[in-house]
Amino acid sequence: MSSYSAWGLLRHGLGARDWAPAWRDATPRKRYKVVVIGGGGHGLATAYYLAKNHGIRDVAVLEKAWIGGGNTGRNTTIVRSNYYYPESAALYEMSLKLYEGLSRDLNYNIMLSQRGIVTVAHSRHELEVVQRWAGAIRANGIDSDLLTPAEIARLAPIFDTSPQARYPVWGGFIQRRGGTARHDAVAWGYARAASALGVDIVQNCEVNAIRRGADGRVTGVGTTRGEIEADCVVMSVAGHSTVLADMAGFRLPVTSYALQAMVSEPVKPLLDVVILSLATGVYVSQSDKGEMVLGGALDLYNSYGQRGNLPTAVNVAGAAVEQYPALGRLRMLRQWAGIVDVVQDSSPILGETPVPGLFINCGWGTGGFKAIPAGGWLMAHHIATGSPHAVAAPFSLRRFTTGALIDEAAAAGIAH
Ligand SMILES: Cc1cc2nc3c(=O)[nH]c(=O)nc-3n(C[C@H](O)[C@H](O)[C@H](O)COP(=O)(O)OP(=O)(O)OC[C@H]3O[C@@H](n4cnc5c(N)ncnc54)[C@H](O)[C@@H]3O)c2cc1C
Repeated sequence: MSSYSAWGLLRHGLGARDWAPAWRDATPRKRYKVVVIGGGGHGLATAYYLAKNHGIRDVAVLEKAWIGGGNTGRNTTIVRSNYYYPESAALYEMSLKLYEGLSRDLNYNIMLSQRGIVTVAHSRHELEVVQRWAGAIRANGIDSDLLTPAEIARLAPIFDTSPQARYPVWGGFIQRRGGTARHDAVAWGYARAASALGVDIVQNCEVNAIRRGADGRVTGVGTTRGEIEADCVVMSVAGHSTVLADMAGFRLPVTSYALQAMVSEPVKPLLDVVILSLATGVYVSQSDKGEMVLGGALDLYNSYGQRGNLPTAVNVAGAAVEQYPALGRLRMLRQWAGIVDVVQDSSPILGETPVPGLFINCGWGTGGFKAIPAGGWLMAHHIATGSPHAVAAPFSLRRFTTGALIDEAAAAGIAH
């Protein structure tokens, strides 16, 4: 694989027509050491780190549609590590640090923009929560600064901080290293780098059965492109985790919901931080193309419909217009949804399943884009070494029998 560089860009800008495909579109073989189900960010990152960190290259990623077509290509691209509990802080901070070096590592510009993420409190009670939250983040060794309403007004002049605002602003906090990264680039960058190390990226290949031997151990998968044997199988399918678990014969404490987002027509630069409002759950940023990106809370009922319902979209748009009156003049360009995998304690599940040889990476809910590098790194570590990495250990499925839950609802529920 030839490396991407400024010189290459110039050469192609001047008319060279020899772009190579970014990754091989592989035909599946009959057998692999490791099969990863799901070509989202987590599945692709797992395959990449298996090959790069552990030299395990006999790996296939099986994706039922196209890579990055699930939540990885549908999210609002926010990255941050300002979580409350030490276990979560260690996980998301590891991920943010990996993101900080990822463009160079993958030789692919993931357009990381550490513009700062501001969380706004709209009442005395929310401000108290924010103060504790910001304090805990600092105690976890992660950057976090409290903000006054005047400082929020300076950071985001289009946000309504006036005394008569519908949602009065009492203060907030900022993680300055938080921001956004380009979602497609993360999926494509991992796919390209994994493929270059020998991983087979197989698209249009849906897994419809998990095969097990007489001893109960996983032996492979049934797919729409035939049977594939494997020593080890990883499920990395987000909102469809319970469907795959059903195939393997166990249940997961996971519920699937639609989560929506929308973007406006592009406009000149208006907002150069990400802002999340605690009272409404609505968060807004501006993409590099100039579109205003809006997200909010989950749809209220379980669904596999990747469209989302109208009342939630109306609530998000309504709250955004109250908080950013200038947005009322904009036309919306697109609205969509992804199916997110929500766990009762709002923390991910990483590690072994009741089926020997079958691993799971799921439960990222509304906030797993930021966790892609760590999710992949930690899963690869577990498969290659046979035991969980210290950062991943608290997130095993076993916590639902031991009771050692990590209840991150406040920091993870809607705050992407
Ligand atoms: C609207 C929205 C906004 C979000 N905003 C943010 C945000 O700002 N920041 C953040 O950190 N997170 C955000 N998230 C969450 C984040 O997108 C997800 O947690 C993350 O992308 C999950 O990655 P993944 O690789 O696990 O899943 P996915 O990217 O969904 O990949 C799973 C893949 O598995 C495939 N698959 C499913 N079943 C099968 C099968 N049987 N056989 C083969 N393949 C199969 C799917 O087609 C899919 O491509 C948001 C999500 C949504 C929907």
